[in-house]
Amino acid sequence: MDEIVKGIIKDEHVLVVAVNCTETVEKARLIHDTWPTASAAMGRVIAGSLLLASTLKDRQKVMIQIKGDGPLQEIVAESDWLYRVRAYVRRPHIYMGLKGEKIDVGRAVGKGFLNVIRDLGLREYYQSSVELQTGEIATDLAYYLNISEQIPSAVSLGVFVETDNSVKAAGGFMIQTMPETTPQIIDFLERKLSHSPSASYMIRQGMSPTQMLEEAVGLPIEVLQQSHVTFYCPCSKDRVINALITLGKEEIGKMIEEGEIVQIECYFCKKKYQLNIDELKNILRDL
Ligand code: ZN
Repeated sequence: MDEIVKGIIKDEHVLVVAVNCTETVEKARLIHDTWPTASAAMGRVIAGSLLLASTLKDRQKVMIQIKGDGPLQEIVAESDWLYRVRAYVRRPHIYMGLKGEKIDVGRAVGKGFLNVIRDLGLREYYQSSVELQTGEIATDLAYYLNISEQIPSAVSLGVFVETDNSVKAAGGFMIQTMPETTPQIIDFLERKLSHSPSASYMIRQGMSPTQMLEEAVGLPIEVLQQSHVTFYCPCSKDRVINALITLGKEEIGKMIEEGEIVQIECYFCKKKYQLNIDELKNILRDL
C-alpha cells in the first residue's frame, strides 16, 4: 500500500520524509503506456512531487516540471496537500537501456530545466527554476532545494521496473537540516547517506517508509504524520473548457466552421471530453 511518512530524527533538528508510491506509479504507467525509461523518469518525478507536497498547507498543490532536450522532452507530476498525485510524460515510448545496473534516466532527460510551481491557493502561484544538473531527477531536486529554496537537503528517488515492464518499486526519501541542526549530526548524516542503499532497493526488501528512513540515516525516527498516497486527476469538462479558451477566438471559430465534434483528452489521466458545436458556440459567445 502506498504511503508517505513525515517526521524528525529523534531528539534532533532534522526533517525526514519517505514515500512508497509503487502502486501509484504502476497506475500511471498503465494510463500512459510508458516504456521502462519513461516509467522510471515519470516515477521519480511523481515521488519527488510527493516529497515536496509534505511541506504544503491545506488546499495547496505543487507541480514539478522537467523540460529537457533528451527524447522524453517533458515530464510533469502534480501533487496536492492530500498526496493525490497525477503525472504525464510527453514521449512515453522511450527505452534507452541500462547505465550499469540502473535505468539511464539522465540521458533520456538530457539538458534543460527543472521548474517547481507551487499553487498556494486563491490564484496565487509561485514558480522557480533551476538548470538540470544530471537529469537523474533526485540530484536535480536536491539542487533546486539547496539553491532555490535554500534548504540544505539530500534527496533519493528510485524506480525498479520488472522485465515485463511493470513497476515493482517506486519511492524516495528526503532529509533536510535546519539552522539549529548541529554540525556533528550534519557530518554524521553526510557520511551515512553516502553509503545508504537506494530507495527502490529498500522498497523491494519490503521496508516501510519509516524503516527506509531509519536505514538511510542510521538513527531512530519520530513519526509526525503518516498518510496514504493515491493517483487522482481532478480534471472536469469545465476545466477542459477553460483550457480551450486559452486557444483564443480565432481557433475556436475555426473549430465551429469545421463543424465537427471536438474531442479533448486530459494530458494527465487520458480521459476524453467531447464538445459539440452548440457548446463551442456558447464558449465563443462568452469570450
Ligand atoms: Zn484528467
